[in-house]
Amino acid sequence: MSTILFIGLGNMGSGMAANLMKAGHDVLVHDLSKEAVAEAVRGGGREAGGLPDARDADIVITMLPAGEHVARVYLERDAVASHAREGTLFIDCSTIDVETARTVGMEAKALGFRFVDAPVSGGTAAAQGGTLTFMVGGEEDDFEAAKPVLEAMGKNVFHAGGAGTGQAAKICNNMLLGITMIGTCEAFNLAQSLGLDPQTFFDISSKASGQSWSMTSYCPAPGPVPAAPSNKGYKPGFAAAMMLKDLRLASDAARTARAAIPLGAQAEQLYTLMEAAEAGGLDFSGVMKLIDGSLNKD
Ligand code: NAD
Repeated sequence: MSTILFIGLGNMGSGMAANLMKAGHDVLVHDLSKEAVAEAVRGGGREAGGLPDARDADIVITMLPAGEHVARVYLERDAVASHAREGTLFIDCSTIDVETARTVGMEAKALGFRFVDAPVSGGTAAAQGGTLTFMVGGEEDDFEAAKPVLEAMGKNVFHAGGAGTGQAAKICNNMLLGITMIGTCEAFNLAQSLGLDPQTFFDISSKASGQSWSMTSYCPAPGPVPAAPSNKGYKPGFAAAMMLKDLRLASDAARTARAAIPLGAQAEQLYTLMEAAEAGGLDFSGVMKLIDGSLNKD
């Protein structure tokens, strides 16, 4: 079992750290929020004095909001890389831009550390239940070293390729999810406008070529999939604001790579309209309400 410094005990990180403790690891916990640290200590973690405690860790895991936080926590003066022992494995599970993931990974390597980017798919329930999917970018032996630790927090661990490819897999998947969700909303709205019952359209299309995860597991029209957020007033789930974050990361990456993403760009714009309408807290399938015109009528 390893000594792990876990940084970022928010909605996701708190459950992930708890699962590492359950698996028998010695988990040092750190967050800017004192309440989050106190909660993790009640769950069996040890309070870290701060980032310098990286010197006591075999592994450092971060679960932070964005690239700037990740770069700061690892590379700023007096942060993790100034104190960790040579060869320490850094695992960043945050969803951040590909550029920063690659830069932090390269700089960490140059300083004698090991680094993988390992963003997750699955929300807070999966973080608590230990059923996350990890998409890992980094060298083969670093991936192999990270795998058993990630398996204590998730049920699927994929090696996507070299540095940054974990983040690339995550944003490409979520861009596709945003696009299929919007397309599914459009199809259900048009079906209804043409006098087709939503359940009947679902029965036909879910067995025909329009089928997708957005339809069969998460149908944005109320009715056909009882567990979907559309049947709970579009309470998230996965918030529209989080989808917008990922679509913005996809846009930035596409610009850098000079790749065309005409539908990804449209999806970003539609979720920006959700944000402007103060509907970022709805589930991302709540884009249905933007499309059927009901968003601000409740
Ligand atoms: P969150 O805002 O709940 O948690 C982030 C935590 O990081 C907070 O507790 C904050 O205090 C802490 N933090 C920020 N800067 C810090 C610093 N410099 N030092 C120490 N602690 C610091 O966010 P979350 O929902 O847990 O998401 C974390 C990451 O996981 C994000 O990148 C998000 O995109 C990704 N993600 C979230 C979900 C989800 O459903 N919430 C799903 C998949 C991926």
